[in-house]
Amino acid sequence: MSPGTAKPRRIGVMGGTFDPIHNGHLVAASEVAHRFKLDGVIFVPTGRPWQKEGEHAADPSRHVSPAEHRYLMTVIATASNPQFTVSRVDIERAGVTYTVDTLRDLRRAYPGDDLFFITGADALETILNWHDWEDLFELARFIGVSRPGYELNATHLTEHLASKPADALQLIEIPALAISSTDCRARAGAGRPVWYLVPDGVVQYINKHGLYRKESQ
Ligand code: ATP
Ligand code: MG
Repeated sequence: MSPGTAKPRRIGVMGGTFDPIHNGHLVAASEVAHRFKLDGVIFVPTGRPWQKEGEHAADPSRHVSPAEHRYLMTVIATASNPQFTVSRVDIERAGVTYTVDTLRDLRRAYPGDDLFFITGADALETILNWHDWEDLFELARFIGVSRPGYELNATHLTEHLASKPADALQLIEIPALAISSTDCRARAGAGRPVWYLVPDGVVQYINKHGLYRKESQ
């Protein structure tokens, strides 16, 4: 999507580690794009996710693949959809990735357009711990989507959203896909199939580069 036309566009932002990107991410973006009449969705692979830093870094289940692999898998997964694009803002920014910086960068790139940040129910539960979280709702509207295994509610946010417009955060049910990147990595590591959990090109990319094999970490 190129910045700067007169009519404000409605742009979805799907942030994630995407290690690897899977069909749960794609269905979430597609469903939100349809329901909210978005002009497009920008997928933004994180640089170094803050949730996977610090005391967690030693935990092998938190090992994060190099950003270039995650970026390329995201490009492969989204290439056939004319509404989907991939941004490098997070992987090119030095240091740990915070969503507030993602949104500030995209605001600068798309001044005057409306941003809709898409987040799963699990991530929504933790939003009050996000860096500079009060600013998030000034930068974008938030769409919380259902995810199997997590309750979709925002009661913990009610008080904080009281002064914001009614559409600052909207919650929607989407088709349930019980897929996680953690499970895809475990499957690939154990030689079990990830076909149909991730797009075909991503299966092939994982195999080509030997991602998630125990010896490759
Ligand atoms: P990991 O297991 O490594 O944390 P993940 O599957 O949770 O990976 P992320 O890259 O962490 O994927 O998630 C990016 C965003 O996509 C988050 O907002 C998350 O809640 C959402 N999401 C991930 N999987 C699903 C799913 N199956 N259904 C709905 N939303 C999802
Ligand atoms: Mg996750």
